Amino acid sequence: MPRVVYDPTYNIGGYGLEKLHPFDGRKYGKAWDAVCTLLPAAKEWLVKPTGEVAVDNLRLVHSDGYLEQLASAAYLAKVFETPAAAWIPVAVLDAIVLRPMRFATQGTIQSFALACEHGLAINLGGGFHHAKPTGGEGFNVYNDVAIGIAFLRQTGQISSDDVVLYVDCDAHQGNGVATCFLDDRTVKIFDVFNADIYPRHDSAARARVDRPVPLPSGTDGETYLLELQRALPTWLDEITTRGRPALAIYNAGTDVVSDDPLGALALSPEHVLERDVFVVESLARRGIPTAMVLGGGYTPDSFRLVADSVATILGRASADKSQKCPPDSPLTPRPTSA
Ligand SMILES: [Zn+2]
Repeated sequence: MPRVVYDPTYNIGGYGLEKLHPFDGRKYGKAWDAVCTLLPAAKEWLVKPTGEVAVDNLRLVHSDGYLEQLASAAYLAKVFETPAAAWIPVAVLDAIVLRPMRFATQGTIQSFALACEHGLAINLGGGFHHAKPTGGEGFNVYNDVAIGIAFLRQTGQISSDDVVLYVDCDAHQGNGVATCFLDDRTVKIFDVFNADIYPRHDSAARARVDRPVPLPSGTDGETYLLELQRALPTWLDEITTRGRPALAIYNAGTDVVSDDPLGALALSPEHVLERDVFVVESLARRGIPTAMVLGGGYTPDSFRLVADSVATILGRASADKSQKCPPDSPLTPRPTSA
């Protein structure tokens, strides 16, 4: 059965911070409640993160100098693109923003291991794809995906030669992930993004993407899906003919929806659901263990898009035995207690 990783600690906010940024920091809890209403069985597949990500695991990706900078409210205000946050005591920012992100990062780490074990795992958070080894940006502090991959390698759950796929469908290009793997070609990157918005000037990160699908602002859902359906299966087939990847990570950012204030694309909620099912099932059909993370999404209804996709994907995966790791997978499934 698939797994879903979540803890109420993921929810960001308090002290009026939510009034300073369009992001709904409470969307994780709202999404989980909605998933449970749509698919009550999801509660049986819940795994809670064990706590905050360990500092040693943050250091697998981030420099000590950068981690020390996170003790500065002025620096964090820049990362959060919220100048007024510089006036909030750093201990408060740590408690209401960074600690939830550290929990979600631990959730991403665990979702990777669970995906390898069960075939599919969804972290109901994470996808902080703009964070770089030596700097945070775009409201992203810890690069949970890069940390998760590094952790799996360090603990021997995957080898440094195993191919890992990163599929990013958030409206913004995943420049942080691309930067983390600038010189590491065992991580193959597929990215569909609005080429007209942030981080459009990050040319080094964009050049690192193995299969970019750049789209102009205003791209509608039908065009988006057509481009995705044209590019992804071909890319996956090219890779899988050389062997099955150990893991795929899917960043399912919902800021592609038409009324999102930051994404500037024009998908309907139905298009978002179709996209998410298409990506996850394209990976499952090829026997690739898949972990999904949430990425961005800045409308008040973002949690509904998340819940619709997560409930649908979990429901379909639980009904489809093919979601399990194939027996000859490099990551042989282990017996589970739950
Ligand atoms: Zn985004």
